[in-house]
Amino acid sequence: MRELTDAADTAATNARGARLPPPWLAYVPALIVLVLAVLFLMLRARSETTGRAVNHSHEVIAEVDRLLLALTFAESRHRGYLLTGDSSYLQPSRDAADEAMQRLDRVRDLTAGQPDQQERLDQLALAIGVKLRQLEETLILRDSVGAEAAVLEVNTDEGRGIMQRVRAQVATIQEEEERLLALGQDLSTSEQQRALLVLVLGSLLAAAVSYMISRQVNAVAETQASQARVLQLQNRRLGEQAEVLRAQKARLEEAAAELEESNAALHRTNEDLIRVSVEADVARQLAEEANQAKSQFLATMSHELRTPLNAIGGYTELLELGIHGPVTEEQGHALQRIQLAQRHLLGLINDLLNYAKLEAGRVEYRITEVDVCATVEEVLSLLSPQATDRRISSNCGECGEIRVLADRERLQQIFFNLISNAVKYSDRGDSVRVECTADESRVTVRVTDTGRGIPPEKLESIFDPFVQVTPNLSTDGAGGAGLGLAISRELARGMSGELMAESEVDEGSTFTLTLPRAAA
Ligand code: ADP
Repeated sequence: MRELTDAADTAATNARGARLPPPWLAYVPALIVLVLAVLFLMLRARSETTGRAVNHSHEVIAEVDRLLLALTFAESRHRGYLLTGDSSYLQPSRDAADEAMQRLDRVRDLTAGQPDQQERLDQLALAIGVKLRQLEETLILRDSVGAEAAVLEVNTDEGRGIMQRVRAQVATIQEEEERLLALGQDLSTSEQQRALLVLVLGSLLAAAVSYMISRQVNAVAETQASQARVLQLQNRRLGEQAEVLRAQKARLEEAAAELEESNAALHRTNEDLIRVSVEADVARQLAEEANQAKSQFLATMSHELRTPLNAIGGYTELLELGIHGPVTEEQGHALQRIQLAQRHLLGLINDLLNYAKLEAGRVEYRITEVDVCATVEEVLSLLSPQATDRRISSNCGECGEIRVLADRERLQQIFFNLISNAVKYSDRGDSVRVECTADESRVTVRVTDTGRGIPPEKLESIFDPFVQVTPNLSTDGAGGAGLGLAISRELARGMSGELMAESEVDEGSTFTLTLPRAAA
């Protein structure tokens, strides 16, 4: 990543420094070269013109030289004839004179655009004409007078003067041409220098512009190269990330497949649960119906059982009282056992009836303000005959009047169950203590015994109906049906209270009843 950041920084720095030159700048060197070429061609054209002028001057000078030479030759051949009379001199003399005239014409042609030179040529032509006439005249003189007269004529001042005039005129023409020649040469040199200067400066300018463009193009190329490196790095990173993403996608696909499977399994489980729930609903309904039927059955049966049992009790008492004749001691004992069994059975049936009523929701509570301690003492006095060999005590004498909101009969029933259990499940010499306490809103009654206690795992189930820790093991052998605590808790809850138990095996048990306190 660091590599990528560095490369990106370099590329950014380069990009800031490098700007692509404007496109028109690329044409500048070409333009310079074009201007140079035009200038060069112009200078070359001018130089050629100057060169032609120089050549022309050379040609004029040479032609005038040859003219003078031909005229001199014609004169010397002519003189040879005059002196010797040898006619072989004559023809070369005439040819040279013709040549001189031709040269003169040629020079005229060459200097056609130079009025001054034309004028000088006119003068020259005049002098040459005079000279040629003199030569002709001396020929005639020789033929007529003699050679000596002819030579004398040639050597006169006038004869020499004509030739000097010719030479002077030739010199004037040549001087003019030499002046022009010098001018042309100067011009040619300065033009060449100018062309050279233009060429050098133009080349330097073109080279400078080219150098500038190439520098900028190089800088841009460098920038593009670093950007290309950054792009390559990014490309590589993207490739790696794509690889990671592909792997993640594969994992996600696997997870999705697993999820689909789990989903299908959950779906199946859900369907099973719905089926089980429906079955459970049906079962619960059946159970409720069965329970209802059972409660109905128990209520009916208890009622049907209580009637004959009460009759048994009544008749037994009548027999015991001797209304139907005297009763022997043995018969008396038998009657007492019958009464005991009858009361036990009646108790069981009453429990069954009460529980059936509770389950059927047919119990009605008449809530009033009830004196807790008075109720406890009533129950204690009811139970005292059975508890002669237990040490029963309570704090009811000290705690004064504590009133609860309860159904007096139901409260009595709860205390009866709790205290009779404490007596039932303790041994001779054990103690049973009832304690009432109260705070602002609740009243608590604890029934504590030092009896055999209840194993911890059974502590909660003893409130379920028909549960007995050890069936029929109360000290007097007259155990209940396992309904007393179930009924008591239901009654407590029915009066907005609660019933709880604490116990330790062989140490004893404490049953705690809480109820709402009546307002003071
Ligand atoms: P039962 O008619 O059997 O007494 P209960 O519902 O009153 O039915 O009590 C259920 C069981 O709880 C009893 O069988 C007994 O084993 C246990 N139990 C109740 N009270 C005490 C107690 N004070 N000490 C020990 N065990 C008790």
